[in-house]
Amino acid sequence: MDLVIKNARLADRPEDGPLDIAVEGGRITAIGHGLGDAGDTYEAGGRLVCGGLIETHIHLDKSRIAGRCPVPEGRRVNPVTMTAPLKKDFTVEDVYRRAEATLRECLVNGTTRMRTQLEIDPAVELRSFDAVRSLAADYKWAIDLEICVFPQDGMTNYPGTEELLVAALKQGAPVLGAAPRYDSDPAVQIERVFALAREFDVDLDLHLDVGDSPDQMHIYQVLELTERYQRGGRVVAGHMAKLSLLAPAECAALARRLADAGIAVTVLPATDLYLMGRERDHGVVRGVADANLLAANGVTCSLSSNNVLNAATPYGDCSLIRMANMHANVLQIAAPEELRDLFGMLTERSAKLLNLKDYGLMPGNPADLVVIDAATPEQAIAEIRPPLGVWKRGRRTVIRHKPELLAPR
Ligand SMILES: [Zn+2]
Repeated sequence: MDLVIKNARLADRPEDGPLDIAVEGGRITAIGHGLGDAGDTYEAGGRLVCGGLIETHIHLDKSRIAGRCPVPEGRRVNPVTMTAPLKKDFTVEDVYRRAEATLRECLVNGTTRMRTQLEIDPAVELRSFDAVRSLAADYKWAIDLEICVFPQDGMTNYPGTEELLVAALKQGAPVLGAAPRYDSDPAVQIERVFALAREFDVDLDLHLDVGDSPDQMHIYQVLELTERYQRGGRVVAGHMAKLSLLAPAECAALARRLADAGIAVTVLPATDLYLMGRERDHGVVRGVADANLLAANGVTCSLSSNNVLNAATPYGDCSLIRMANMHANVLQIAAPEELRDLFGMLTERSAKLLNLKDYGLMPGNPADLVVIDAATPEQAIAEIRPPLGVWKRGRRTVIRHKPELLAPR
């Protein structure tokens, strides 16, 4: 065997106590007690180990442009109109450099798989697509990076956008997104992306239902089309911030419909906290959908970073564990089992959302492993504990040293 992680507490079954994980040829070959030593042995010391953190929704292509955007005046902000004028100046090199910086932060925070949203339209054409495809190839040693192409600035109102999306799909883009809120005809955009998803047989991952009022939610049209075209299990709704404006019983009823239809939900706490409730100047709503409530009603949920250092979220350290802590804090979650559910929304639930078939701590799966400086998933989230080591397909990709206090002198 090439590698053994000794005394690891498995994140999906921490009650089993410390176990050894053996790795050979990039795959997990055995999990058990006393598996012996290998060429490379890591002593986890009873710490938590998971199968890698999964970022299901981030925007690498427009990360790290906060400094190019005007500082908002007043309460109202529109990140799309703040960003659109910048896009004609995005070069392949510029996008690559910014996306790489963000990706590297994600890696050191324990992310080993990712789906990134990526904008395509006549202003940026396919330059971001080309840049992030190169990045994915260059960092294959550390992460599996999947691209979801989408029209951020509208499709029906922006001639040429759909043709460019089709060009990206023909070049192999595996997922198609949408942002109907920013289209002059949201319903037609949703119809078009469902038609393209059927034509190219790709999954859908849509930005949905952010706004001041729970009226006119687009999720009902998405439910109808998912059922009509039998796309269950292949449709994700990101944000769903308007769910936070519904009473719990109404939200639970809608969640059960989503679960039955096979529509998953990614909650994006940082962006929704930054953008929601801007119509008020006091008593501002939090605007974050309750992922625990959705999961309790059967919805496959993930939590993700979304925007990093741009007009939609001028903050970010690419720590998914911090994102789960933020969700717990904002939704006022205290029960350990609910914190554990949130950890699942960075790991195995995210894998289910992305339809990954080879994720998790099981013999035969790729040895994507992250050692976190915590004994349990709930402790990792409550205390925002850091990853100490990361392996991708059995190869060490990240070393992080635990900070130490000096002795008195
Ligand atoms: Zn997004």
